[in-house]
Amino acid sequence: METSPLELPADRVQRIAAELQCHPGDEQVALRLDKEDELRHFREHFYIPKMKDLPPIDLSLVNKDDDAIYFLGHSLGLQPKMVKTYLEEELDKWAKMGGYGHDVGKRPWIIGDESIVGLMKDIVGASEKEIALMNALTVNLHLLLLSFFKPTPKRYKILLEAKAFCSDHYAIESQIQLRGLDVEKSMRIIKPREGEEILRLEDILDIIEKEGDSIAVILFSGVHFYTGQLFNIPAITKAGQAKGCFVGFDLAHAVGNVELHLHDWGVDFACWCSYKYLNSGAGGIAGAFIHEKHANTVKPALVGWFGHELSTRFQMDNNL
Ligand SMILES: *Cc1c(COP(=O)(O)O)cnc(C)c1O
Repeated sequence: METSPLELPADRVQRIAAELQCHPGDEQVALRLDKEDELRHFREHFYIPKMKDLPPIDLSLVNKDDDAIYFLGHSLGLQPKMVKTYLEEELDKWAKMGGYGHDVGKRPWIIGDESIVGLMKDIVGASEKEIALMNALTVNLHLLLLSFFKPTPKRYKILLEAKAFCSDHYAIESQIQLRGLDVEKSMRIIKPREGEEILRLEDILDIIEKEGDSIAVILFSGVHFYTGQLFNIPAITKAGQAKGCFVGFDLAHAVGNVELHLHDWGVDFACWCSYKYLNSGAGGIAGAFIHEKHANTVKPALVGWFGHELSTRFQMDNNL
């Protein structure tokens, strides 16, 4: 049967279970989903750990030569088989030419970030000019908040979801403290209703409507790291901006996982890491997005030489 691209994953599981006349959790359903998976061939590009090489588990329950069923991509994506080749090419270049490697070879280091930005643009739905690849996620979140969180006596809150990933929680808390504000008053955390696990969009929009005038920045995750809730990015963005707030997203669990259209949705800013669903490896550089509408209005709070276009970077005239 044809699968519609618009069919929701849960509906698809239900449909297949009905067709096979079994429980949605039955192995047959998983096998059928594997068989129909159009991206299945990508599996060949990754090393899949074997059960026997993983930390101690009850090996009587598994065949130790089996591949693991890998559910840790939210922590660290699997290693692409080409990584070793690429790394060896760069290490060889470094050994042979030292600093001349900045400018020559397949991937000159001076444009190490810019040369891969084109690969990122469709993943987040942005133009190359709107994306920077640099640092680690939490560092980028801090840099973005330094530029976008400009509290005033009337507009001094950051709105975020309850149980946000601890690093985001700490980052927001410390940004508020850095401005000399009271965390109790400025950190506006929205919780699910009593007895519910995920946030209802209507409740998020309701708070934005009621308190939006005092909110400087709305910062949500794209996909919540714990509940897996995919937030309605365009709806939250639109509602927040209608109230004059800046709206940003931490896409750590969304990038490489769900479709994103940051530019078209008008999101003000976003950041993400590349070592989870993008499989870049531990320490892989993170991403930041600023919508082009802010190109001339929102200035970086902290600057260094890589903020300069490459064409003028080496003039070193100390003029920004
Ligand atoms: C994984 C994750 C982080 C990790 O940040 P690092 O700076 O890469 O250590 C931060 N925020 C969220 C929401 C995450 O899921």
